[in-house]
Order: sequence, then C-alpha cells, then structure tokens
Amino acid sequence: MQKEKIEALKALIKKSDNILIIGHKNPDGDAIGSCVGLGLFLKKQGHHVNVVMPNAYPEFLHWVPGHEDIFIYADQKEEVEQLVHNSDLIFTLDFNHFSRVGDGFSDLLTECKIPFVMIDHHEQPDDYAEVCLSYPEYGSTAELIFETIQGLGLVKDIDKDIASCLYLGIMTDTGSFRFPSTTSRTHEIVSVLLKKGAKSHEIQQKTFDSSSINRLKLLGKAMQNLEYLPEFQTAYIHLSQKELDDYNFQKGDTEGFVNYGLSIKDVVLAVIFKEDLHQNMVKISFRSKGDFDVNQLAREYFHGGGHKNAAGGRSDLSLNETIEKFVALLPNYKKDSGAAV
Ligand code: 5GP
Ligand code: MN
Repeated sequence: MQKEKIEALKALIKKSDNILIIGHKNPDGDAIGSCVGLGLFLKKQGHHVNVVMPNAYPEFLHWVPGHEDIFIYADQKEEVEQLVHNSDLIFTLDFNHFSRVGDGFSDLLTECKIPFVMIDHHEQPDDYAEVCLSYPEYGSTAELIFETIQGLGLVKDIDKDIASCLYLGIMTDTGSFRFPSTTSRTHEIVSVLLKKGAKSHEIQQKTFDSSSINRLKLLGKAMQNLEYLPEFQTAYIHLSQKELDDYNFQKGDTEGFVNYGLSIKDVVLAVIFKEDLHQNMVKISFRSKGDFDVNQLAREYFHGGGHKNAAGGRSDLSLNETIEKFVALLPNYKKDSGAAV
C-alpha cells in the first residue's frame, strides 16, 4: 500500500471522532467481516464507530461479534440518516460505487459533504473518496483491512474478534482459499490471524454448516434446473419465485449454488438466475474460470459488475426473457470461453 495514502488516512482518522463504516447491499461475508473487523479496530483506537449495512444479511453471518449493533438502513432509515450527518468520516468497504448501496441510501451518501475513505477490491472504482485504497488484484477487502492496519503499524491491536472477522471475509471471498485470487500473501495474512486467535474450523463450521433442510432441498431443485451448453462451455441454473417460495427461501440460501455449474469438467462460465417478483427483477450471479471476464459481461448487459471471475447483475425482463437474452449473447463470447470457433 502506498505510504502517502496511509499517511493521509492516518491524518483523517486522527481528526475524526465519529466514524461510520458502510458495506454494500446484500452484504456477504467479506462486507460483514471487513466492516465489523475495521469497526472493532477503530473502537480500540478510541473512536466512536457505527457500522451500517443497506439491507439485512443472511443468518449464517449473524455470529459475528457485535451483530446486534449493526444498523440496517432498510429498517432504520431515520437513525442512519442521523448517523451519516453526525459522522466526521465515512468508510465504504467492499464496494466502489454508491449505486451498490441501493437507491435511497446512495442519494444520502451523494448529498453529504463528509470525507470518504474507500477500501475495496473491485474493478473500476468511482472517484468519490478522499483516500481511495482500491486494489482489484486482492481476493478480498478483508485482506486490505489487514494491510491497512499493518500500514498504520498497529497489527499489535488485532485481537481474536478482529482476527475472526477478517478471517471470515478472506475465507468467504476466496472460496475457502480455492479461487485464483488466493496468493501466498493471503496465507501469510491468515497465518497472522490464526496466531491472533481466529479459529479456522469454528468459523468454517458456523458459516458453512448452518443450512436449513429447506436450503438443501432448494439446492436439489436448482440442480434439477441446471442447463449445460457444452458448445459454449457454459452451465446455468434458474430458480423462479414460485420455486423459491416452495422451499421457504431465506436470504443467503442460494449462496454458493452458482459454483456447482463451474465444477462441471470443461465449463468456464456458470450463472444463476433468480427471479424476484417482489422487486420485479431477476438477480444474476456469474462465475468464470480463466480469461472469461464476467465483470465485463455483467457491466455491459446486466447493470452489474464485480471481478473478472465473479460478478453479479440484474435484469428487468422476465426470467425466461433474461435467460433468452443471455443465451443469445453466448456466441459473441465463444472465443473467450476457449472453445474452438
Ligand atoms: P454475487 O454473485 O456473489 O452476488 O457477487 C459476486 C461479485 O459481484 C461480488 O464481488 C459482488 O460485490 C459483485 N456484485 C454482485 N452483484 C452486483 C451488482 O449488481 N453490481 C455490481 N457492480 N457488482 C455486483
Ligand atoms: Mn469482497
């Protein structure tokens, strides 16, 4: 991390009493782990810190220390508006564009005149932040929180709770250390976190072994709905609102489903389409292997973005029309998929 940026950050933190930390909409393990981990660290430095998420997050993340203290904008708009206006400094973690916090919250951030610090690992950051720590080559924002703390010379202040939060973020965003973004540096950081008291097996268990029976049955349905297009080295899954309702879908239940498509031999592009009739849209997750750039695909055609090998987006068309649109695009990507043209 550049020394000047760390110095600028140090100065900003020093003059800020009230600090707000914000994650992205539909928060994942990295957003929660990074925000809570940084929050606990800044509290230890004597600041008043609050953490806000735009909307609720899955139950398998409720074990994080201080879960009860996290504000949810969708449920607590007035309180969050107060918090924003009373803050001296706002961290935005694990996203790089205000649109990622959703409509109302995004307006609130756009209009406020408070300095922002961005710590993030997504491509193409927007330029709203006074200090912008954007490193897309990193596999998780949680690693960047560690690098920031190390840059500040304060690794000694990482305790078991902070270490557990950062471990959660790294573990979930690297697919339990499987994705190509996992580096020797990732393992060095994790080694320090384990020495600080993070318990790997406990965190894995609390996060991954807490499924409901309905979630597993929904996975069965998703696997029945799996479509495989060998000529495009592509596999996709679709789940309608009715199917989600049949299995009493809860937030987070489809987490990880998309990866099953990618586990088919030779598949380089996997997608899940999830109908959401409450919000009149189809939520889409893309995963890829190798050079297939799903960030570009999601940005160009599905109002989304993310990383080269993991991105998300949405469609305002019906579920069937969305899938038709997607399948019609595939011939354009045939050479990216590595298939013979
Ligand atoms: P997921 O498919 O697990 O929801 O997200 C995969 C990656 O894409 C994550 O890094 C996430 O932040 C990003 N992502 C997911 N949905 C969207 C979206 O609608 N817009 C953008 N810009 N990024 C997204
Ligand atoms: Mn992340």
